[in-house]
Amino acid sequence: MAHYDMIIVGASNAGLSAALVLGRSRRHVLVLDGGPSRNAPAFHSHSFFTRDGAAPEELLRIGREQLRPYQVEICADLARAARIMADGRCELTLSSGAEVSAQVLILATGVVDELPAVPGLAQLWGRGVYHCPYCHGWETRYSQVAVYGRGESGYQQAVHLHHWAPRLALCTDGPADLAPAQREHLTQLGIAVLESPVKAIDGTVKCLRAILFEDGSRQAVDALFVRPVQRQRSDLAQQLGCDFTPDDVYVQTCETGQTNVSNVYAVGDMTGPMQQVVMAAASGARTAAFINNQLILQDCVLA
Ligand SMILES: Cc1cc2nc3c(=O)[nH]c(=O)nc-3n(C[C@H](O)[C@H](O)[C@H](O)COP(=O)(O)OP(=O)(O)OC[C@H]3O[C@@H](n4cnc5c(N)ncnc54)[C@H](O)[C@@H]3O)c2cc1C
Repeated sequence: MAHYDMIIVGASNAGLSAALVLGRSRRHVLVLDGGPSRNAPAFHSHSFFTRDGAAPEELLRIGREQLRPYQVEICADLARAARIMADGRCELTLSSGAEVSAQVLILATGVVDELPAVPGLAQLWGRGVYHCPYCHGWETRYSQVAVYGRGESGYQQAVHLHHWAPRLALCTDGPADLAPAQREHLTQLGIAVLESPVKAIDGTVKCLRAILFEDGSRQAVDALFVRPVQRQRSDLAQQLGCDFTPDDVYVQTCETGQTNVSNVYAVGDMTGPMQQVVMAAASGARTAAFINNQLILQDCVLA
Protein backbone atom coordinates (compact mmCIF):
# COMPACT_ATOMS: atom_id res chain seq x y z
CA MET A 1 0.00 0.00 0.00
CA ALA A 2 1.40 3.44 -0.96
CA HIS A 3 1.92 5.71 2.06
CA TYR A 4 1.98 9.54 2.06
CA ASP A 5 2.44 12.30 4.61
CA MET A 6 -0.99 13.61 3.68
CA ILE A 7 -3.84 12.62 1.44
CA ILE A 8 -6.15 15.36 0.22
CA VAL A 9 -9.52 14.19 -1.10
CA GLY A 10 -10.77 16.71 -3.68
CA ALA A 11 -8.71 18.55 -6.31
CA SER A 12 -10.65 21.78 -6.50
CA ASN A 13 -10.03 25.20 -4.94
CA ALA A 14 -9.64 24.13 -1.31
CA GLY A 15 -7.76 20.89 -2.02
CA LEU A 16 -5.23 22.30 -4.51
CA SER A 17 -4.55 25.27 -2.27
CA ALA A 18 -3.80 22.97 0.68
CA ALA A 19 -1.60 20.85 -1.60
CA LEU A 20 0.46 23.87 -2.65
CA VAL A 21 1.26 24.87 0.95
CA LEU A 22 2.06 21.27 1.96
CA GLY A 23 4.14 20.61 -1.16
CA ARG A 24 6.16 23.74 -0.45
CA SER A 25 6.55 22.50 3.13
CA ARG A 26 8.45 19.48 1.81
CA ARG A 27 5.60 17.06 2.46
CA HIS A 28 4.78 14.09 0.25
CA VAL A 29 1.16 14.58 -0.74
CA LEU A 30 -1.44 12.61 -2.69
CA VAL A 31 -4.40 14.58 -4.09
CA LEU A 32 -7.42 12.54 -5.20
CA ASP A 33 -9.27 14.18 -8.06
CA GLY A 34 -12.86 12.98 -8.18
CA GLY A 35 -14.09 15.26 -10.97
CA PRO A 36 -15.32 18.78 -11.69
CA SER A 37 -15.48 21.62 -9.17
CA ARG A 38 -18.81 22.88 -7.87
CA ASN A 39 -18.81 25.94 -10.15
CA ALA A 40 -17.79 23.97 -13.25
CA PRO A 41 -21.09 24.73 -15.06
CA ALA A 42 -20.42 28.51 -14.89
CA PHE A 43 -18.60 30.28 -17.73
CA HIS A 44 -16.85 32.70 -15.39
CA SER A 45 -15.67 32.71 -11.80
CA HIS A 46 -15.86 36.12 -10.11
CA SER A 47 -14.51 37.89 -7.04
CA PHE A 48 -11.18 36.07 -6.80
CA PHE A 49 -8.48 38.70 -6.31
CA THR A 50 -6.31 38.94 -9.51
CA ARG A 51 -8.50 36.41 -11.36
CA ASP A 52 -11.93 38.05 -11.59
CA GLY A 53 -13.84 36.56 -14.53
CA ALA A 54 -11.52 33.60 -15.18
CA ALA A 55 -13.08 30.33 -16.32
CA PRO A 56 -13.40 27.97 -13.32
CA GLU A 57 -11.42 25.21 -15.06
CA GLU A 58 -8.64 27.69 -15.92
CA LEU A 59 -8.11 28.49 -12.24
CA LEU A 60 -7.76 24.80 -11.48
CA ARG A 61 -5.47 24.25 -14.46
CA ILE A 62 -3.09 26.92 -13.12
CA GLY A 63 -3.42 25.44 -9.63
CA ARG A 64 -2.40 21.99 -10.84
CA GLU A 65 0.39 23.29 -13.02
CA GLN A 66 1.94 25.19 -10.12
CA LEU A 67 2.12 21.98 -8.07
CA ARG A 68 4.58 20.42 -10.51
CA PRO A 69 7.82 21.43 -8.74
CA TYR A 70 6.70 19.75 -5.52
CA GLN A 71 6.29 16.21 -4.28
CA VAL A 72 2.55 16.27 -4.91
CA GLU A 73 0.88 13.48 -6.86
CA ILE A 74 -2.54 14.07 -8.38
CA CYS A 75 -4.50 10.93 -9.08
CA ALA A 76 -7.82 10.84 -10.95
CA ASP A 77 -9.71 8.52 -8.63
CA LEU A 78 -12.53 8.65 -6.09
CA ALA A 79 -12.09 7.81 -2.43
CA ARG A 80 -14.84 5.30 -1.66
CA ALA A 81 -14.09 4.22 1.91
CA ALA A 82 -12.06 5.69 4.76
CA ARG A 83 -10.97 4.34 8.12
CA ILE A 84 -8.61 5.23 10.96
CA MET A 85 -6.19 2.48 11.90
CA ALA A 86 -5.06 1.58 15.43
CA ASP A 87 -1.73 3.40 14.88
CA GLY A 88 -3.58 6.61 13.89
CA ARG A 89 -2.96 6.30 10.12
CA CYS A 90 -5.82 7.04 7.73
CA GLU A 91 -6.48 4.40 5.11
CA LEU A 92 -8.55 4.92 1.97
CA THR A 93 -10.00 2.52 -0.57
CA LEU A 94 -10.33 4.09 -4.00
CA SER A 95 -12.79 3.40 -6.82
CA SER A 96 -10.00 1.72 -8.78
CA GLY A 97 -9.60 -0.75 -5.91
CA ALA A 98 -6.24 0.73 -4.84
CA GLU A 99 -5.58 1.30 -1.15
CA VAL A 100 -3.54 4.25 0.13
CA SER A 101 -2.67 5.56 3.56
CA ALA A 102 -1.37 8.74 5.19
CA GLN A 103 -0.51 10.26 8.52
CA VAL A 104 -3.08 13.02 7.92
CA LEU A 105 -6.26 13.14 5.85
CA ILE A 106 -7.69 16.40 4.49
CA LEU A 107 -11.24 16.26 3.18
CA ALA A 108 -11.95 18.92 0.52
CA THR A 109 -14.93 17.22 -1.05
CA GLY A 110 -17.39 20.12 -1.31
CA VAL A 111 -21.17 20.14 -1.37
CA VAL A 112 -23.96 19.39 -3.82
CA ASP A 113 -26.71 21.93 -4.57
CA GLU A 114 -30.22 20.45 -4.67
CA LEU A 115 -32.05 22.65 -7.17
CA PRO A 116 -35.83 23.20 -7.33
CA ALA A 117 -37.42 20.51 -9.51
CA VAL A 118 -38.61 22.87 -12.25
CA PRO A 119 -38.18 21.54 -15.81
CA GLY A 120 -35.33 23.33 -17.60
CA LEU A 121 -33.87 24.95 -14.47
CA ALA A 122 -30.99 22.56 -13.78
CA GLN A 123 -29.69 22.84 -17.37
CA LEU A 124 -29.17 26.58 -16.86
CA TRP A 125 -27.39 26.29 -13.48
CA GLY A 126 -24.43 28.70 -13.52
CA ARG A 127 -25.49 30.03 -16.94
CA GLY A 128 -28.53 32.17 -16.13
CA VAL A 129 -29.67 30.39 -12.96
CA TYR A 130 -27.55 31.45 -9.97
CA HIS A 131 -27.57 31.52 -6.20
CA CYS A 132 -24.93 34.03 -5.10
CA PRO A 133 -24.99 37.78 -5.88
CA TYR A 134 -21.32 38.10 -4.87
CA CYS A 135 -20.52 35.71 -7.71
CA HIS A 136 -23.01 36.87 -10.36
CA GLY A 137 -24.86 39.94 -9.05
CA TRP A 138 -22.81 42.60 -10.85
CA GLU A 139 -23.52 41.08 -14.27
CA THR A 140 -27.29 41.40 -13.67
CA ARG A 141 -27.37 45.09 -12.71
CA TYR A 142 -29.19 46.18 -15.90
CA SER A 143 -31.01 42.89 -16.49
CA GLN A 144 -34.52 41.67 -15.86
CA VAL A 145 -34.06 39.30 -12.93
CA ALA A 146 -36.29 37.04 -10.84
CA VAL A 147 -35.85 35.31 -7.51
CA TYR A 148 -37.47 31.86 -7.29
CA GLY A 149 -38.67 31.31 -3.73
CA ARG A 150 -41.43 31.98 -1.27
CA GLY A 151 -42.07 32.87 2.37
CA GLU A 152 -39.33 34.36 4.53
CA SER A 153 -36.54 32.86 2.43
CA GLY A 154 -37.90 34.22 -0.89
CA TYR A 155 -38.58 37.64 0.68
CA GLN A 156 -35.06 37.90 2.11
CA GLN A 157 -33.35 36.83 -1.08
CA ALA A 158 -35.41 39.32 -3.12
CA VAL A 159 -34.66 42.26 -0.79
CA HIS A 160 -30.96 41.33 -0.78
CA LEU A 161 -30.67 40.91 -4.54
CA HIS A 162 -32.54 44.16 -5.20
CA HIS A 163 -29.33 45.96 -4.25
CA TRP A 164 -27.63 44.50 -7.35
CA ALA A 165 -30.60 44.07 -9.70
CA PRO A 166 -33.31 46.75 -9.34
CA ARG A 167 -35.41 45.24 -12.20
CA LEU A 168 -36.55 42.37 -10.05
CA ALA A 169 -39.58 40.08 -9.57
CA LEU A 170 -40.24 37.43 -6.92
CA CYS A 171 -41.59 34.24 -8.49
CA THR A 172 -43.24 32.14 -5.77
CA ASP A 173 -44.58 29.24 -7.89
CA GLY A 174 -47.90 29.15 -6.01
CA PRO A 175 -49.06 31.02 -2.88
CA ALA A 176 -46.34 33.50 -1.85
CA ASP A 177 -46.65 32.83 1.88
CA LEU A 178 -45.68 36.42 2.69
CA ALA A 179 -46.74 38.54 5.66
CA PRO A 180 -48.62 41.78 4.75
CA ALA A 181 -45.63 43.89 5.86
CA GLN A 182 -43.31 41.85 3.61
CA ARG A 183 -45.64 42.35 0.63
CA GLU A 184 -45.79 46.06 1.29
CA HIS A 185 -42.02 46.29 1.51
CA LEU A 186 -41.61 44.45 -1.81
CA THR A 187 -44.15 46.82 -3.41
CA GLN A 188 -42.20 49.83 -2.10
CA LEU A 189 -39.05 48.41 -3.70
CA GLY A 190 -40.90 47.86 -7.01
CA ILE A 191 -40.55 44.06 -6.77
CA ALA A 192 -43.55 42.35 -8.38
CA VAL A 193 -44.75 39.10 -6.75
CA LEU A 194 -45.64 36.46 -9.37
CA GLU A 195 -47.73 33.72 -7.72
CA SER A 196 -48.78 31.68 -10.77
CA PRO A 197 -47.52 28.08 -10.67
CA VAL A 198 -44.44 27.63 -12.82
CA LYS A 199 -44.45 25.11 -15.69
CA ALA A 200 -40.84 25.36 -16.91
CA ILE A 201 -37.81 27.55 -17.49
CA ASP A 202 -37.18 28.44 -21.11
CA GLY A 203 -33.66 28.88 -22.47
CA THR A 204 -30.81 27.39 -24.42
CA VAL A 205 -27.74 25.78 -22.80
CA LYS A 206 -26.09 29.18 -22.87
CA CYS A 207 -28.86 31.62 -22.07
CA LEU A 208 -32.00 31.96 -20.00
CA ARG A 209 -35.04 33.41 -21.78
CA ALA A 210 -38.18 33.26 -19.67
CA ILE A 211 -40.20 31.70 -16.89
CA LEU A 212 -43.17 29.82 -18.36
CA PHE A 213 -46.29 29.60 -16.17
CA GLU A 214 -48.98 26.91 -16.04
CA ASP A 215 -51.61 29.48 -17.12
CA GLY A 216 -49.79 29.97 -20.45
CA SER A 217 -48.23 33.33 -19.57
CA ARG A 218 -44.47 34.01 -19.59
CA GLN A 219 -42.10 36.40 -17.85
CA ALA A 220 -38.98 37.30 -19.82
CA VAL A 221 -35.90 37.12 -17.55
CA ASP A 222 -32.15 37.27 -18.13
CA ALA A 223 -31.26 35.72 -14.79
CA LEU A 224 -32.99 33.70 -12.08
CA PHE A 225 -31.73 33.37 -8.51
CA VAL A 226 -32.58 30.35 -6.36
CA ARG A 227 -31.55 29.22 -2.87
CA PRO A 228 -30.59 25.54 -3.20
CA VAL A 229 -30.62 23.10 -0.31
CA GLN A 230 -27.12 21.69 0.17
CA ARG A 231 -25.75 18.31 1.18
CA GLN A 232 -22.25 16.83 1.41
CA ARG A 233 -20.87 15.58 -1.90
CA SER A 234 -19.14 12.64 -0.25
CA ASP A 235 -20.00 10.50 2.76
CA LEU A 236 -16.36 10.07 3.85
CA ALA A 237 -16.76 12.44 6.83
CA GLN A 238 -19.75 10.43 7.97
CA GLN A 239 -17.87 7.14 7.53
CA LEU A 240 -15.07 8.49 9.72
CA GLY A 241 -17.45 9.62 12.48
CA CYS A 242 -16.93 13.38 12.01
CA ASP A 243 -19.31 15.69 13.86
CA PHE A 244 -21.66 17.84 11.79
CA THR A 245 -23.04 21.34 12.39
CA PRO A 246 -26.40 21.51 14.21
CA ASP A 247 -28.27 21.78 10.86
CA ASP A 248 -26.55 18.51 9.90
CA VAL A 249 -25.29 19.94 6.59
CA TYR A 250 -21.64 20.89 7.16
CA VAL A 251 -18.69 19.14 8.79
CA GLN A 252 -17.92 20.76 12.14
CA THR A 253 -14.36 22.04 12.36
CA CYS A 254 -12.45 24.47 14.49
CA GLU A 255 -10.68 27.44 12.88
CA THR A 256 -7.74 25.29 11.89
CA GLY A 257 -9.90 22.83 9.96
CA GLN A 258 -9.59 20.09 12.60
CA THR A 259 -12.56 17.78 12.95
CA ASN A 260 -13.37 15.83 16.10
CA VAL A 261 -11.58 12.80 14.57
CA SER A 262 -7.87 12.71 15.20
CA ASN A 263 -5.72 13.38 12.07
CA VAL A 264 -8.79 14.24 9.96
CA TYR A 265 -9.28 17.81 8.68
CA ALA A 266 -11.97 19.38 6.48
CA VAL A 267 -11.66 22.51 4.31
CA GLY A 268 -13.66 24.58 1.83
CA ASP A 269 -17.39 24.59 1.12
CA MET A 270 -18.04 21.38 3.04
CA THR A 271 -17.38 23.20 6.34
CA GLY A 272 -19.94 26.02 6.18
CA PRO A 273 -22.08 28.43 4.19
CA MET A 274 -19.37 31.08 3.48
CA GLN A 275 -18.71 29.63 0.06
CA GLN A 276 -16.48 31.29 -2.49
CA VAL A 277 -13.40 30.23 -4.38
CA VAL A 278 -11.14 32.64 -2.51
CA MET A 279 -12.50 31.46 0.85
CA ALA A 280 -12.10 27.79 -0.05
CA ALA A 281 -8.52 28.45 -1.16
CA ALA A 282 -7.80 30.39 2.04
CA SER A 283 -9.22 27.65 4.24
CA GLY A 284 -7.10 25.01 2.46
CA ALA A 285 -3.94 27.11 2.88
CA ARG A 286 -4.58 27.88 6.55
CA THR A 287 -5.25 24.26 7.45
CA ALA A 288 -2.19 23.08 5.53
CA ALA A 289 0.09 25.48 7.43
CA PHE A 290 -1.45 24.43 10.74
CA ILE A 291 -0.91 20.73 10.01
CA ASN A 292 2.68 21.29 8.94
CA ASN A 293 3.43 23.32 12.09
CA GLN A 294 1.87 20.62 14.27
CA LEU A 295 4.01 17.93 12.67
CA ILE A 296 7.20 19.98 13.11
CA LEU A 297 6.38 20.41 16.82
CA GLN A 298 5.52 16.73 17.16
CA ASP A 299 8.86 15.74 15.59
CA CYS A 300 10.71 18.04 18.04
CA VAL A 301 9.06 16.31 21.00
CA LEU A 302 9.90 12.86 19.63
CA ALA A 303 13.54 13.78 18.83
C1 LIG B 1 -23.02 27.74 -10.27
C2 LIG B 1 -21.98 28.24 -9.31
C3 LIG B 1 -21.25 29.37 -9.60
C4 LIG B 1 -20.30 29.83 -8.70
N1 LIG B 1 -19.60 30.95 -9.01
C5 LIG B 1 -18.65 31.40 -8.17
C6 LIG B 1 -17.92 32.59 -8.47
O1 LIG B 1 -18.14 33.24 -9.51
N2 LIG B 1 -16.98 32.99 -7.58
C7 LIG B 1 -16.72 32.32 -6.42
O2 LIG B 1 -15.85 32.74 -5.67
N3 LIG B 1 -17.41 31.18 -6.11
C8 LIG B 1 -18.35 30.72 -6.96
N4 LIG B 1 -19.06 29.58 -6.63
C9 LIG B 1 -18.73 28.86 -5.39
C10 LIG B 1 -17.49 27.97 -5.63
O3 LIG B 1 -17.76 27.08 -6.69
C11 LIG B 1 -17.14 27.17 -4.38
O4 LIG B 1 -17.07 28.02 -3.25
C12 LIG B 1 -15.78 26.46 -4.55
O5 LIG B 1 -15.79 25.67 -5.72
C13 LIG B 1 -15.49 25.59 -3.34
O6 LIG B 1 -14.34 24.85 -3.54
P1 LIG B 1 -14.11 23.47 -2.76
O7 LIG B 1 -12.75 23.04 -3.17
O8 LIG B 1 -14.42 23.65 -1.33
O9 LIG B 1 -15.25 22.49 -3.31
P2 LIG B 1 -15.63 21.98 -4.77
O10 LIG B 1 -15.33 23.00 -5.81
O11 LIG B 1 -17.06 21.54 -4.65
O12 LIG B 1 -14.70 20.73 -5.03
C14 LIG B 1 -14.83 19.53 -4.34
C15 LIG B 1 -14.03 18.50 -5.12
O13 LIG B 1 -13.98 17.29 -4.39
C16 LIG B 1 -14.13 16.22 -5.31
N5 LIG B 1 -14.60 15.04 -4.59
C17 LIG B 1 -15.78 14.89 -3.90
N6 LIG B 1 -15.85 13.67 -3.36
C18 LIG B 1 -14.70 13.02 -3.70
C19 LIG B 1 -14.18 11.73 -3.45
N7 LIG B 1 -14.86 10.83 -2.72
N8 LIG B 1 -12.96 11.38 -3.97
C20 LIG B 1 -12.25 12.28 -4.72
N9 LIG B 1 -12.70 13.54 -4.98
C21 LIG B 1 -13.91 13.89 -4.49
C22 LIG B 1 -15.12 16.76 -6.33
O14 LIG B 1 -15.04 16.02 -7.53
C23 LIG B 1 -14.64 18.19 -6.49
O15 LIG B 1 -13.68 18.32 -7.47
C24 LIG B 1 -20.05 29.13 -7.50
C25 LIG B 1 -20.79 27.98 -7.20
C26 LIG B 1 -21.75 27.53 -8.09
C27 LIG B 1 -22.56 26.31 -7.76
